Amino acid sequence: IIQLYVPLNWFGTYYRAIQKNFVDMENMFDLLKEEKEVVDVPEAGQLVLKKGNIEVHNVSFSYIPERIVLRNISFSVPPGKTVALVGPSGSGKSTIIRLLFRFYDVDTGTIIVDGQNIKTVKQASLRKAIGVVPQDTVLFNNTIKYNIQYGRISAPDADIVTAARNADIHDKILTFPDAYETKVGERGLKLSGGEKQRVAIARTLLKAPTIVLLDEATSALDTQTERNIQAALNKVCSNRTTIIVAHRLSTIIHADEILVLKDGEIVERGEHKDLISLNGVYAMMWQQQLKNEDIKKDESGNLDEK
Ligand code: ATP
Repeated sequence: IIQLYVPLNWFGTYYRAIQKNFVDMENMFDLLKEEKEVVDVPEAGQLVLKKGNIEVHNVSFSYIPERIVLRNISFSVPPGKTVALVGPSGSGKSTIIRLLFRFYDVDTGTIIVDGQNIKTVKQASLRKAIGVVPQDTVLFNNTIKYNIQYGRISAPDADIVTAARNADIHDKILTFPDAYETKVGERGLKLSGGEKQRVAIARTLLKAPTIVLLDEATSALDTQTERNIQAALNKVCSNRTTIIVAHRLSTIIHADEILVLKDGEIVERGEHKDLISLNGVYAMMWQQQLKNEDIKKDESGNLDEK
């Protein structure tokens, strides 16, 4: 019994950890091949994908009945446009992303993709249409090539290299002992946070999904790395319907709409410049970030003098 119990328990823990932190959801489904929370309705059809139009209507959701996490959320993302979610920790940003990927079903309201309620289509067909760039990418204990190819298993080598180039990781891979055949992951070469994120970007570029869900990393990368990653991220999002959970407001200045969440509700919404002139929650967050950047600059300035 104990032997059986341990691995099952481990899976359960892993599953919950991923659900909670929105870590590499796409991988997870392959690891588990089974899903607990969400079940396809018997007559579920395939999602018929058109241009990737997303509509969220009056969505409310709670993980546990006593506590509502999202309250009456409505927004839409027209094909190819970008909506950013910002707000304090625990305000419900990642939960919105999880609902879109149908990790959970909404309690009330609807999420519509290209005219179809996602509750009524096969989960696999929905997830095929969506690429996820998580904060933390879990690498397989396999070659770096396989880890990129995972985005589209049938992809020829040339496409894998192109994706790696566009994700700005090709040159790095060539410095590995066996280049693309180098084993990575826990039992292989360990990659840095920035490198893992590039693998996720390359994977998503290879998958070429119509919809991209992006969870921006909170961990500080150095400015040059950050700039390069930003360029790669822009490639992933360009011409795709994108929802981004943003931690650095400077990356979403050009978003078509920014939703400011607080305690599960949208408290402000609009473009960057509108929200700045509103002088509310967003404007305060913006001021705070500018201040922090100044502090960082000061600190690095001091270091240079030494
Ligand atoms: P952060 O910026 O810290 O990632 P967030 O805005 O993405 O935060 P969510 O992760 O969506 O916030 O969480 C919203 C609320 O739901 C939080 O209060 C959180 O504690 C709660 N919550 C999240 N996941 C679960 C879960 N699996 N079970 C119960 N409550 C949860």
